[in-house]
Amino acid sequence: MDFKDTPAQATWRQEVREFLRTERPKVSTDEMNMEGGGMRGAAGMAWMKEWREKLAKKGWIAAAWPKEYGGAGLGVMEQFVMNEEFAEARAMNVGGMGTSMIGPTLIVHGTEEQKKEHLSRILRGEVQWCQGYSEPGSGSDLASLQTRAVRDGDDFVINGQKIWTSGAHTADWMFMLARTDPDAPKHRGITYFLLNMKDPGVSVRPLINLSGGHMFNEVFFEDVRVPIRNVVGEINRGWYIGTTTLDFERSSIGNAVGQRQTLEYYLRYIKEHRDDGTVSHSPTVKTEFADRWIEAAAAKMLSYRVITIQAEGRVPNHEASIAKLYNSELGQRIARSAMKAIGTYGLLTDREVAPMRGRAPATYMGSVSSTIAGGTSEVQRNIVATRGLGLPRA
Ligand SMILES: Cc1cc2nc3c(=O)[nH]c(=O)nc-3n(C[C@H](O)[C@H](O)[C@H](O)COP(=O)(O)OP(=O)(O)OC[C@H]3O[C@@H](n4cnc5c(N)ncnc54)[C@H](O)[C@@H]3O)c2cc1C
Repeated sequence: MDFKDTPAQATWRQEVREFLRTERPKVSTDEMNMEGGGMRGAAGMAWMKEWREKLAKKGWIAAAWPKEYGGAGLGVMEQFVMNEEFAEARAMNVGGMGTSMIGPTLIVHGTEEQKKEHLSRILRGEVQWCQGYSEPGSGSDLASLQTRAVRDGDDFVINGQKIWTSGAHTADWMFMLARTDPDAPKHRGITYFLLNMKDPGVSVRPLINLSGGHMFNEVFFEDVRVPIRNVVGEINRGWYIGTTTLDFERSSIGNAVGQRQTLEYYLRYIKEHRDDGTVSHSPTVKTEFADRWIEAAAAKMLSYRVITIQAEGRVPNHEASIAKLYNSELGQRIARSAMKAIGTYGLLTDREVAPMRGRAPATYMGSVSSTIAGGTSEVQRNIVATRGLGLPRA
C-alpha cells in the first residue's frame, strides 16, 4: 500500500495544517481541561466561541455537510486528512452530536421544515443535542426499547425512560427512539423523534461516573407531547433512520492519533522524571511501553483500512468494528501501562501533588467506559465473528 498523499491531498493537508498553525487558539484543549476549569468554564466558553467563529467562516464546523447547508462538501479522503491534521494539532471539533449525528441524519431524512429549523442553529452553536437511545435493559439489544409514544391528534404522547444519556443535563434537544407499535416485530414499531428538552414532563437525573464526573444521566418522560412535525422519516420506520450511518467519520483516526500522542506524553514524563523516584525503571514497564508503541502504529493502520474502504465507495462494516474495538482496548492498555510506570503514585488524584497532575489515574478510570460506549467490545467481537469471519450466529 502506498501511504503517500496524492498531490491534491498533499496540497489540502498543507492548507489545513497552515490554518491550524496560524488560527488555532494558542491554549490547547489539554491545558484548558487541566488548568482552566474545563471547556464549560468561562475561559473554556470564550475559547470555544473564538474557535467556532474561525471554523464557521471556512465551513469547517461540519465540513462533510453539503455547501448548501453550511458545510464544505468535503469528500471522504479530504475529510480524513482534515480529521487527521486536527487530531495531530489537538484542535477540537466544536459541533458535538449536532454536527456528527443529528445534522447528517436530517440532511438525509429530515423534512425541509426540520432542516430549516435545526441545521443553521447547530452550525451557529446555539443548541446542544443529546442521544436518547439506551434504556434500562435495552442497550446492546436496542430494538427491545420500551419507551412508548402514543398518537393523540397532531401530537405523540411519550412515556418512559432513557439512561446513560450523555450531556442531557446541558442539552436543548434530544433525538430519540420510542415504540409506536407494540404489536409489530420489534424493529418495525419504532419511531424517531426530535424532542425539546424544555418540554413539560421531561426530567433529567444525573448519574455520577467512576471518576466523580457528571457526564451522563437518566431522562424520564411523563406525558411529554411531541408534535407530529418532529417525527423524522416515517412512523414505525425509525429503526432504519436510527441505524443510518449517523457518523460521517467512522475511521477512528482521531482516536488512533490521540493514543500515540498520549503515549508520547507519558514517555516524555518518564524520561524527564527518571531520577526523581516517581517512575519505575522495571524492565516490565519498558517492554510494555514498547508494545503500546507498536500497537498505536497498528491502530493507525486499522483506521487507514477503514478510510480506504470508504474512499472506494464501499461501506466499512466489520472493519469499522475492528478499529473501534482495537482503539478502545488499546486506550485501556495505555492507561494501565502508565499506572504501572508511576506505581503507587497512581493513587494520587489531587492535581496539586500528583505526578502528571493526576492525568494517569484520571485516564485510567475514564478509559473503562470506552469499551461500553458506542457498542461494547463483546458486541464488536460478535460482528467481527459473524460478518467478518462468517461464523454462525449463536
Ligand atoms: C460513557 C458512555 C456514554 C454513553 N452515552 C450514551 C448516550 O449518549 N445515549 C445513549 O443512548 N446511550 C449511551 N450510552 C449507553 C451505551 O450505548 C450502552 O451502555 C451500550 O450500548 C451497552 O448497553 P448496556 O449498558 O445496556 O449493556 P448490556 O447490553 O446490558 O450489556 C451487558 C453486558 O452483556 C454483554 N452482552 C450484551 N449482549 C451481548 C451479546 N449478544 N453477545 C455477547 N455479549 C453481550 C455486553 O457486552 C456487556 O458486557 C453510553 C454509555 C457509556 C458507557
